[in-house]
Amino acid sequence: MTDTLYYQPKSVDEALQIKAELGAEGTFLAGGTDVVVGIRKGKLKVARTIDLSQVPGLDGIRRHDGFLEIGAMTTHKALEQHDVPAALAQSCETVGGPQIRYLGTVGGQIGTASPAGDVSVALIALKADVELRSAARGTRRLPLDEVFVGPGKTVIADDEMVTRVFVPLGRRSDFYKIGKRDAVAISLVMAAASVGPAGDVAIAIGCVAPVPLRIKRAEALLDARGLSDEAVDEAATIAREDCSPISDHRGGADYRRAMAGTLTKRLLSRLREVTPVKAKPAESSAEVA
Ligand SMILES: Cc1cc2nc3c(=O)[nH]c(=O)nc-3n(C[C@H](O)[C@H](O)[C@H](O)COP(=O)(O)OP(=O)(O)OC[C@H]3O[C@@H](n4cnc5c(N)ncnc54)[C@H](O)[C@@H]3O)c2cc1C
Repeated sequence: MTDTLYYQPKSVDEALQIKAELGAEGTFLAGGTDVVVGIRKGKLKVARTIDLSQVPGLDGIRRHDGFLEIGAMTTHKALEQHDVPAALAQSCETVGGPQIRYLGTVGGQIGTASPAGDVSVALIALKADVELRSAARGTRRLPLDEVFVGPGKTVIADDEMVTRVFVPLGRRSDFYKIGKRDAVAISLVMAAASVGPAGDVAIAIGCVAPVPLRIKRAEALLDARGLSDEAVDEAATIAREDCSPISDHRGGADYRRAMAGTLTKRLLSRLREVTPVKAKPAESSAEVA
């Protein structure tokens, strides 16, 4: 007899209590698009499954206090059909095919911690925060880019779950994905960028490092110098320099590195079309070099 157990909690508190008791042995099941594939391929041994599908209050999207609040069980399809920032909608539209988007969730995307997570890259570029909750310590909130520490690895503790994601409203954004096909294709490289109401820029790139990568050095340069041609070219160079891609069956490291620069330039150029170019402040390049 296989020693497998399946739990179906009816509240967040109950789910967290079970997780606290099981620790690393317990695996949350959201849409199952990663978990089930992992089990079928023999990469994931799941002995204790905590199904979140019957937990009320974990899905839904609402605008509150300057943020879009997205419940962890919100599917990519629901986000695609909702009025959400452009980069987020675009990233959701490119996840797998319709069947995957009806099942796959934001919480599952974060839990999987894939460097190829399209939605994670868009959320990082939108400066999203994530809310984590445990039975013992309550909630904590941290920037999404601080959650990922390696492929499949996060700072989420064994007794915690993702409950919500907070996306600041008012940022203009864009997303671009390169894959082998237009649908049901894991990204070869993808990137997203956003500009805030005060002109601050955020850039994230996927598939070019062990984690979805935020290009903070380029952001600092652009914040100081605006989206001039020169600054955008320098930001693209930094994106190429700061990534550490690998070669695999989908593509080569050199190609990925080149595309990190190309996509950075393309996204920033598009965002600039409706963003006034800041006057270059004196000696700003020295400050951010
Ligand atoms: C055919 C196919 C195509 C795909 N294409 C793409 C693609 O193009 N782009 C892309 O980004 N992804 C793609 N994926 C991957 C997948 O669909 C996404 O990562 C999806 O967001 C996972 O969500 P889920 O709800 O199915 O997660 P699940 O499989 O249920 O869970 C994934 C992981 O997250 C954990 N988890 C789930 N919910 C929580 C929570 N609330 N708190 C903490 N941990 C949690 C689980 O324990 C598990 O470790 C594809 C998958 C398949 C099968």
